[in-house]
Amino acid sequence: MSSMKNRTAGADDKEASFAVGDQIEAVKESELLTADGSSAASSEIAKVDEAAPDKHKSVYHRKGFGLKDEVEGELKKEYESDLVAELRASGNVISRNGMTIKLAEAFGFCWGVDRAVSMAYETRKHFPDRRIWITNEIIHNPVVNANLREMGIEFLGVRSDGSKDFSSIGRGDVVILPAFGASVEEMRIIEGRNCEIVDTTCPWVSRVWNRVVKYAAGFDHGYTAIIHGKPNHEETVATASRAHCYLIVRNIEEAGLVASYILSGVDGAGGDREAFMKRFQDAVSPGFDPDVHLQSIGIANQTTMLKGETEQIGKLFEKTMLQKYGPLSIDKHFISPGDTICDATQERQDAMLKLVDEKLDLMLVIGGFNSSNTGHLQEIAEKSHLPSYHIDGPDCIGPGNQIRFKPLDGDDCQSKVNFLPAGDVTIGLTAGASTPDQLVAQVLDKLFSIRQ
Ligand code: SF4
Repeated sequence: MSSMKNRTAGADDKEASFAVGDQIEAVKESELLTADGSSAASSEIAKVDEAAPDKHKSVYHRKGFGLKDEVEGELKKEYESDLVAELRASGNVISRNGMTIKLAEAFGFCWGVDRAVSMAYETRKHFPDRRIWITNEIIHNPVVNANLREMGIEFLGVRSDGSKDFSSIGRGDVVILPAFGASVEEMRIIEGRNCEIVDTTCPWVSRVWNRVVKYAAGFDHGYTAIIHGKPNHEETVATASRAHCYLIVRNIEEAGLVASYILSGVDGAGGDREAFMKRFQDAVSPGFDPDVHLQSIGIANQTTMLKGETEQIGKLFEKTMLQKYGPLSIDKHFISPGDTICDATQERQDAMLKLVDEKLDLMLVIGGFNSSNTGHLQEIAEKSHLPSYHIDGPDCIGPGNQIRFKPLDGDDCQSKVNFLPAGDVTIGLTAGASTPDQLVAQVLDKLFSIRQ
């Protein structure tokens, strides 16, 4: 797919080199811990990895089926755009009907999304007669998920209590795990269904899993994984399930609350434990005790968070632990081997930071409304005080000069009439890592049609 060709050479090399290796490494980590008896949950991953038809209940596939060439045409037809390819090759600017549109230097499908979608298409081809399930949206883009449905790939049902219904997976069915991965608990259930598992988890995600698994082997109780992420996001849920102990912070404000508790409350020195636990009740591992489990911490993050905020959080906790325990024993209490933001997220955020410095009248950010990386691109635009609209496709524009968009801090969409100012106008445009080029082209067409 074209976005594959648009990756930087450095990212290409790095990604290609750990495409399979890191996943295997993640499993090996789990096996090591299992040998120590410190992570029963992780043993399930190792078991699934080693699965073979004659040995275990389910069969595990971590790569495509050698059918890339066969699905290439279909993927190109559904997701690529000649117009966007030309724009990428000629400076990312297009002017028409009094409108100049400047595209970010990096936008749209990332390597991990390309890989996951391609594996799903290959799976359909490889198992033409099998029932195929997917545990979640493969990526956060409605068009891609609708296409998978049309191909007969079914999404697992959800029970009235919000939990997934795995009971419909039958013997011999195929189950696709999305690019965000799946939790250890989900893997355990699926593995027991006598099915074929196709794991499209992005290696950048399993890289974070490696890290939190390693934290279990820290001093005394191990390092508690402090995860900068969204507690309900599939990736963070999967990452947290691999940590022996975790606490999730959404942002720097929540990190500040944890840091204050560490300084005033750990060891029973007077922090408001009840208020703390109430605030973080849905963001901690079972049995979490802030007076015990905040004595040694390790930092990790969802791959698609805002890089600047993740760095701030890491620095805040380092400073906090230095203040609490002093420089001589800091290694026992704090570990952070750098952030785990993926290259694609970083490239898109860097390109956005550059774009908002240009002279623009407004910004459009295209991506699924539940896409974390797209939301952070929108956040960058809003912080630069540009009028900016997060839309999920061309249907958000029109009729006429009006737009439907999702505000950063709201669940419901809003509409604005006359969003395009009169006269010549310059619009910045970017798209999240799960947005196909074809959708970007359709948005461009819709914009130009306003002034036809
Ligand atoms: S955004 Fe990053 S972590 Fe997510 S699929 Fe793309 S490369 Fe992988």
